[in-house]
Amino acid sequence: MRDKRKMEREGNMKSVLFFAILLAGGVALSAWMGIADSRLAAGRGTSLNNSQKNPVLREGEVLIWDPNSSAPLPIPPSRTKPPPVPIRRPDAYAPIYEPAYASHPFYRNTRRLMSLAKPLGSPHSGDWRTLVREPEQDFDQFVRDSRRSGGTLVVQPIGDLPADQRRAIGHVLDAISAFFGVQAICASPISLSVLPSGCFRTTDGWKQINAEALMSGTLGPLVGGGVAAIVAVTDLDLYPGGDWPFESAFGWSSYDQGTAVVSTARIIDRSPANRGRNLFRLTKLFIHELSHTYALKHCSLFNCLMNGSGNLRESDAKPLSLCPDCLAKLSLVTGRDPGAHVAEMIGLCRAKGFSADARYYRLASRALKL
Ligand SMILES: [Zn+2]
Ligand SMILES: [Zn+2]
Repeated sequence: MRDKRKMEREGNMKSVLFFAILLAGGVALSAWMGIADSRLAAGRGTSLNNSQKNPVLREGEVLIWDPNSSAPLPIPPSRTKPPPVPIRRPDAYAPIYEPAYASHPFYRNTRRLMSLAKPLGSPHSGDWRTLVREPEQDFDQFVRDSRRSGGTLVVQPIGDLPADQRRAIGHVLDAISAFFGVQAICASPISLSVLPSGCFRTTDGWKQINAEALMSGTLGPLVGGGVAAIVAVTDLDLYPGGDWPFESAFGWSSYDQGTAVVSTARIIDRSPANRGRNLFRLTKLFIHELSHTYALKHCSLFNCLMNGSGNLRESDAKPLSLCPDCLAKLSLVTGRDPGAHVAEMIGLCRAKGFSADARYYRLASRALKL
C-alpha cells in the first residue's frame, strides 16, 4: 500500500466521503500492448521511428513516442531550446545539499526575487487551505523528500482526446520543456478499452477515472529507463481513489513515483473564444502536477504556481511562476540555475501569449541581473 501522505491531491471538493477500494496492479503491460492509436496529433503530429530520430516540428506540433517500437526516446529538435540536461543519479544531488542549501548559489540567487514575492492572503471558503491542512514544506524537509533521477518528461494521453486538446498538448510540451529545462515528449495514446474496469465509475453524470489506480497500475511501471516522470491526460473527470474524501480532482500526482494525471474535463471551456485561457489553465495544471513529482509540495506562503486549488477560481488565480522558495527547490533538484529558468520562461510566455507572466519573468530577470 502506498503512504497516502505522499500523495498529492487537489480538486473540486464537495466533501462527499467515499471509500473506493480498487485493485490496480498488473495492468501496465496489458495497457501498453493495447496501444494502437497513434492519431494523437491527427495531421499535427510526428511519429518517431528508428530512421527518423530528429524531425523538425512546427509550432504546436507534437512529437510522438511509441514505446512499442523499441526505438529510444526521441531527441527533440533544437527549436525546443534548452540544452540536454545530463541524467543525474540521485546520489549526484548530494553535493548541492552540503553543507547547507543556504550557501548554494542557486538558493542565494532566488533571494533576489523576494521583493517580487506576494504573500498569500487569507483563503476564501472552499479554497484549498480551508479543505486540507498541510504543513509547510521547509527546505530541510524538501531535501529529505527529493530523491529522483533526471530524464525525459512524458505526456501520456488516455483515450482519444478532442482535436483542440491534442493541439494544445504541443504547446504544453514547449512550456514543460522551458520550465524544467528537460526534454518533454508525448507518447502514443493508451486506449480506454485496455484500462481495467475498476478504473472507472460514474458520479453525478460524470464518467470518472480513478487517479491512484491509473498511476500505480498503468503509469508507474513506465517510469525509469530515461523517463523521469510521466503525466497522463484525459478528458474524462478524475477522482482520487483510495480513501480520499474528494469527489473529483483537476489533477493528482505522486511525490515519489514520478507519476501524475490531469483532467481537462472541468477546466476546458469549449468556446473557441476561450482557447487562450484553456491553454493557460492546461499549462499551469500540467506543470503544477509535474512539479509535485519533483517533490515540491503545496506552497502556502506566497502567490505561487504551487498553491493548492480547491476550485477553479483559486486555480485561475495562480501564476505560471514559482515563488522564490519554490524556485529554489526546483533549481536545487534539477541542477539548473534559476536564471536559466527565468530566461526560458520569458520567451515561452511571450510566444504563448501569457502576457502577465511574461511581465513577471521580465521583472525577475532584472532582479537577477541577467
Ligand atoms: Zn497540487
Ligand atoms: Zn511557492
